[in-house]
Amino acid sequence: MTPQDDERMIRAALDAAAAASDADVPVGAVLFDADGVELARAANAREASGDPTAHAEILALRAAARIHGDGWRLEGTTLAVTLEPCTMCAGALVLARVKRVVFGAWEPKTGAVGSLWDVVRDRRLTHRPEVRGGVLEDECAGLLESFFQDQR
Ligand SMILES: [Zn+2]
Repeated sequence: MTPQDDERMIRAALDAAAAASDADVPVGAVLFDADGVELARAANAREASGDPTAHAEILALRAAARIHGDGWRLEGTTLAVTLEPCTMCAGALVLARVKRVVFGAWEPKTGAVGSLWDVVRDRRLTHRPEVRGGVLEDECAGLLESFFQDQR
């Protein structure tokens, strides 16, 4: 995968974020197979579904596992998400055996892929996804900033 592929994937995640309800923080995630073909996409739906685990990454993993190959294993896949994943999502990405994680904006308060914790690259784990953060960072952060401005 080239840096251009990463940008294309984050653009897809930005598209996915646009599907979030008006009450939900606009975070989007898209899972791609090893050839860069989209498997599933989702937006954060915590408010819309009243589900504390309905983060975009979790919803995209669930949807992809229903259609992709070997049951729950999502080996060889890349997850692109507009915001650095939290601890729950970082843990789920490891459990799903996602190969790469590409994200847009850093989340210094709760990020678990390099900011506050680094769950996916803990050397005690046998499966450690590769990570690239800060892809189209300004666009991804801008989407969140305008959401929180409108909330005030
Ligand atoms: Zn999360």
